[in-house]
Amino acid sequence: MSKRDYYEILGVAKNADAAELKKAYRQTAIKYHPDKNPGNKEAEEKFKEAAEAYEVLSDPDKRARYDRFGHAGVSGNGGFSGGGGMSMEDIMDQFSDIFGGSPFDTFFGGSGGGTRSRRSGGSRGSNLRIKVSLTLEEIAKGTTKKIKVKKQVKCQSCNGSGAKDSSSVSTCGTCSGSGYVRQIRSTFLGQMQTTSACPTCNGSGQVVTAKCNTCKGDGRAYDDKTIEIEIPAGVEEGMQLSMRGQGNAGQQGGPSGDLLINIEEKPHDHLKRDGANVIYDLYLNFADASLGTSVEVPTIEGDVKIKIPAGTQSGKIFRLKGKGLPVVQSYQQGDQLIHVSVWTPKKLSSEEKDLLEKMRKMDNFTPTPSKSDKGLFEKMKDYFNS
Ligand SMILES: [Zn+2]
Ligand SMILES: [Zn+2]
Repeated sequence: MSKRDYYEILGVAKNADAAELKKAYRQTAIKYHPDKNPGNKEAEEKFKEAAEAYEVLSDPDKRARYDRFGHAGVSGNGGFSGGGGMSMEDIMDQFSDIFGGSPFDTFFGGSGGGTRSRRSGGSRGSNLRIKVSLTLEEIAKGTTKKIKVKKQVKCQSCNGSGAKDSSSVSTCGTCSGSGYVRQIRSTFLGQMQTTSACPTCNGSGQVVTAKCNTCKGDGRAYDDKTIEIEIPAGVEEGMQLSMRGQGNAGQQGGPSGDLLINIEEKPHDHLKRDGANVIYDLYLNFADASLGTSVEVPTIEGDVKIKIPAGTQSGKIFRLKGKGLPVVQSYQQGDQLIHVSVWTPKKLSSEEKDLLEKMRKMDNFTPTPSKSDKGLFEKMKDYFNS
């Protein structure tokens, strides 16, 4: 079978530069990657073909020979063993060396293989989840909470090692204490060294010959711990904060998990939250709304006195600038909105009824909305546009 042109395989021009080649190879390789095309022989061939094309064209010497002599210029020469000489594993290694292991972790859930940094101890501890309930006042200023949690901590007896005493730990024979094992692989790029965690000691470099009596070799024990949690101003119900390394301890000295903090809001007696704004429903009697008055309204920072002008209509919204909540990790600050409703009495005495009957007959009590008096619908539009 005659070989296809390398430029054609990658779909690039003869004068493509290194970046274009790399991009084209990445696209082709992702398209035909075996993880994405399980059991598809044709895709596998195309994947190998692209790897070979890239291997030649990304090397200036080989590319120059290929340009002059075609496939004959590069096969069986300069350490490259021609077609058929590379295994899938070699290609994977080469691919992850060029692009890093991450593309396939992200795209297809792993198996890209290649060299990656390994942990340097036992297995990682699990994450710990807690809920923190906050008042609006605490949310407004930010707060520090001291929370008692039951969590796995390093075993005191063995300091997390899981060993009975210092003489019951010995250097791992497999890796001679380094925690790593190295492998030399020959790939079509030449010899490559890969490093991975030692399977015997799990990367710690040491093996336990006698287990700690307290933790039975696990290296952990449960304990009550008080954790100080700093909560920034402006957080919201449902937000999650995390504190790295504050979760459960790892096995045999492995890294700790994280502490995940779920935010809950305690309802306020008078105020409602709307994003960064705070809403207060103010009910005025008909006389106060008509004559004007001054009233005390609660805010997050305590009561403030506001002036109600004469002739205030139901549905009016007063704004207290900056009296809302801060937006988390920003300099923005919400407002307090005071939403006015004129209160209609539900039960009336006969004296009150008489008074109201007199008022009813007065011309001035007949509604006469002008163009500047807005209905509730328009007021709501104004509010949502503000
Ligand atoms: Zn122990
Ligand atoms: Zn080892």
